[in-house]
Amino acid sequence: MNPATQDTIVALSTPPGVGAIGVIRLSGNDAIDITNKVFKGKDLTKQESHTIHFGTVRDGDKIIDEVLVSLFIAPKSFTKENVVEISCHGSPFILKQVIKVLLSNGARLARPGEFTQRAFINGQFDLAQAEAVADLINADSEASHEAALKQMRGGFSDQIKALREELIHFASMVELELDFAEEDVEFADRDDLKKLIHNLHEVINKLISSFDLGNVIKNGVPTVIAGKPNAGKSTLLNALLNEEKAIVSDIAGTTRDFIEDEINLGGINFRFIDTAGLRETTDTIEAMGVQRTQEQMKKASLIIYLVDMANDSVVEMNKEINKLENLGIPFVVVGNKSDKAQEDIKTAISKIKGSVLISANSHENLEALKDRLLEVVNLDNFKSGDVVVTNIRHYDNLLKTRDALQDVLNGLGMNVTGDFLAMDIRQSLHYLGEITGEITTDDLLANIFSKFCIGK
Ligand code: GDP
Repeated sequence: MNPATQDTIVALSTPPGVGAIGVIRLSGNDAIDITNKVFKGKDLTKQESHTIHFGTVRDGDKIIDEVLVSLFIAPKSFTKENVVEISCHGSPFILKQVIKVLLSNGARLARPGEFTQRAFINGQFDLAQAEAVADLINADSEASHEAALKQMRGGFSDQIKALREELIHFASMVELELDFAEEDVEFADRDDLKKLIHNLHEVINKLISSFDLGNVIKNGVPTVIAGKPNAGKSTLLNALLNEEKAIVSDIAGTTRDFIEDEINLGGINFRFIDTAGLRETTDTIEAMGVQRTQEQMKKASLIIYLVDMANDSVVEMNKEINKLENLGIPFVVVGNKSDKAQEDIKTAISKIKGSVLISANSHENLEALKDRLLEVVNLDNFKSGDVVVTNIRHYDNLLKTRDALQDVLNGLGMNVTGDFLAMDIRQSLHYLGEITGEITTDDLLANIFSKFCIGK
């Protein structure tokens, strides 16, 4: 066992603040003994795993609280160590006192993510799965919840592990050749290796490109509503948010600050960034150049270009669309004020692929717009059960793996000797292994687990 995992750690596992109950968790060899020292009720050291016991926690003779103690005896626990969960009344004062008395009886305060780190070190799950625990706790939409759950249950890891297995086989064959260098034998068929690397490339490319979607699932879609002053941007935002969060007014320039808000469509969060900057000049073309707006636009993954069909001209609109096309961010052209629309612009917008005609005022056709937004994000990949990469660390490592694999391919193309080939293969294996934690360094682990909260 890792020496660091020998002390018994304790932390509050429920959120800080007043609650009906608060749960304190201990993990480590002495978790049950330490709890038993401060607990009055049954002798906890003589109880079976997965049982719950009522009693009091005391500091000397003083009762701190009446509690329920749940026991999980190693290895049948989250960390695979002895784990005790003490359910107390949820007063911050009580919880602090209980933790204090546990500390003075031999436990130490857990570091951020230390429970999950121990679970990983003791083989409960691999690194990608441990990271999914954090994602699961933070999931705030159906899609992010589903992605985290999938990853926690091993979907992503299985695929990476299968890839590694195949590569390891080849690496060992190539390395075996090195032992028989004088005899000029080839255990690893170069054509087969090339085929394997091509397959790997394909799988890895797919995972890499799934990150766009994964990022959307995890972090939502930053969406900008762009358009001339008075086009109805605030009205649309309000209509979408279905509440009066933005100021709507007849006077251009009322929306001074960026209002960021979120709606959930079909399990995906769309984060709206109101482009107040567009109001700073009346010339729309110039307005596009307003730096602040440009920056907001660049941060967006999706732009709703709102056209005022009552007042905008077709020529101007086409210029704007041209600019949007050059920006390279997916956009949807939305014609607003369908109740007062000029015929020419209405016809022009209808001809644009994927456009929607709405009235933000009367919420007309808002559902069609929502459907269109979801279409642009394209959740199809996710729903079909494919693995989606949502973690930037995994994404980085996949990019590095792809580069290393490219080196293997280049090496094969140039007929390099086995030792060089083996080196490049090992490099790819290293990056793949870092994803699932087959290869770890203390720095890597510290970096990952320090991002967790204390108590997780
Ligand atoms: P913004 O400057 O783009 O944020 O525009 P606002 O949302 O403040 O709207 C400007 C004006 O257009 C307001 O008077 C709205 O009531 C009006 N407006 C918004 N949507 C519609 C619509 O669908 N039809 C009509 N006739 N007026 C609208």
